Amino acid sequence: MPGEAVICSDLAVVGAGAAGLYAALSAASAGASVTLVSATPLAQTASYWAQGGIAAALAVEDSFARHLADTEAAGRNLVRRSAAQVLVREAPARVADLERLGVRFDADRHGVLALGLEGGHSVRRVVHAGGSATGRRVVRQLSALVVDDPSITVLEGARAATAWMHEDRCVGVALEDGRAIRARATILATGGAAALWSRTTNPPGSLGIGMSIAHAAGAALADLEFLQFHPTAVIGIPGREGFLVTEAIRGEGATLHGPDGERFVEELAPRDEVSRAIAALLARTGATSVGLDMRHVDPSLFPNVVSALQDAGLDPTREPIPVSPASHYMMGGVVTDLHGRSTVAGLYAVGETACTGLHGANRLASNSLSECFVYGARAARAGLDESASAPSTTAPAAGAPLEHPARATQEALWRDAGIVRTRAGLERLTRDPHPLARLIAACALAREESRGAHQRADLPTVDPALDHRHTEIRGDAPPAAVRWA
Ligand SMILES: Cc1cc2nc3c(=O)[nH]c(=O)nc-3n(C[C@H](O)[C@H](O)[C@H](O)COP(=O)(O)OP(=O)(O)OC[C@H]3O[C@@H](n4cnc5c(N)ncnc54)[C@H](O)[C@@H]3O)c2cc1C
Repeated sequence: MPGEAVICSDLAVVGAGAAGLYAALSAASAGASVTLVSATPLAQTASYWAQGGIAAALAVEDSFARHLADTEAAGRNLVRRSAAQVLVREAPARVADLERLGVRFDADRHGVLALGLEGGHSVRRVVHAGGSATGRRVVRQLSALVVDDPSITVLEGARAATAWMHEDRCVGVALEDGRAIRARATILATGGAAALWSRTTNPPGSLGIGMSIAHAAGAALADLEFLQFHPTAVIGIPGREGFLVTEAIRGEGATLHGPDGERFVEELAPRDEVSRAIAALLARTGATSVGLDMRHVDPSLFPNVVSALQDAGLDPTREPIPVSPASHYMMGGVVTDLHGRSTVAGLYAVGETACTGLHGANRLASNSLSECFVYGARAARAGLDESASAPSTTAPAAGAPLEHPARATQEALWRDAGIVRTRAGLERLTRDPHPLARLIAACALAREESRGAHQRADLPTVDPALDHRHTEIRGDAPPAAVRWA
């Protein structure tokens, strides 16, 4: 490793999922130099694993207002309207841009995009590729473009450890191997934190690294109590534990059945409702799974899901698939404005690392990939507007590797910050050795109500006084309930 080397570029982007790749390409197309750091190979990003697709109001019967209304309904009076408006207005243009960049979405023979239906959407709105291989197709194409772009330097297998701070400003990022990147703006795009929970749909690297880096740099985090559980992840099948069976399959008519074979929930209700209904049924019956019956769904629509299940010895064309909820998506993250700026100058966050407030208390399915592209482009633009004349400083020492959660922490999060929480469990979690687990517990304790993905057995109702109040946490201060413009 080149020891003390400092790499200088206009923009430093940490993370090569959908958000980081698109931010890097957006900046490069504006003539900027970019250094992109990626800890893991492509196939280990959540973006690569995404199945359903990208939400955008493209159908004739759809509209920005309708997409906004569905987003707000899922988010339970906590969606920051300004952030959601940006998303719904700009998502169609980002889809068009991805097509221009060479992503081939599924379309009919006239070239009209095929739109899928997922839970919480009132119309077909989900653009997809290769059936349920959307993430793979998009990430592969964007990565190929990044690799070919001479203004983007890719540091593969490198891990960011700390923000490089000069006075109160972030001037770059220090890597674990001793290198550092100096940049006008640093964009954290390290994905979410769902793999902090023991049962998850996410790749093992989704540990909230960007949130930890931002918190250590003094940036505000918010809404960490809102972790979405996906209702239909495979359970009890070795090698496929936590494998997600996309909601789009329920959109095509797949149904959920309890141990008695009866349906027990409206399959396309928002995810928090379906997850709670499954968890309650499992608790009541002692069963470990419910059955997802997709025997009447055309298997050719979802080839990669069907073949992954068949590889694991399950035949979805003949038998129901055993599923139960798993931790899936972190709505909270690094507080940002509508241009990806965190509360620390020069430090940005996009994608699942960020909390713009657009998802509120519960993300609408397929809004997250849209968010990666809409806010990835915005952050790149805003980052390039930062002054290029930051004062010269010495490079930081190699960043110490960020703490990896112990298995006990992951089990504690599942038990104490799971689908239904209690005060006693959350108080126990505030004593966990992992810093981010403690911050999650603090936010969940501070939100004294049940709303969306945050359900407390001891406080089972919504407190209207907390409508549109986000739980902000910064440094060692206790969380505060803040209203955002
Ligand atoms: C199974 C599954 C299916 C999904 N399906 C959909 C869907 O259909 N539609 C939808 O909208 N959303 C879906 N989601 C959610 C969506 O995929 C994610 O929210 C989104 O892809 C996150 O993208 P990202 O770019 O923020 O992060 P990621 O794609 O997770 O990428 C994070 C990047 O950060 C890197 N990284 C992490 N730590 C470091 C470090 N210290 N230094 C350097 N690099 C680092 C990683 O190597 C990786 O490159 C799904 C998620 C999963 C898990």
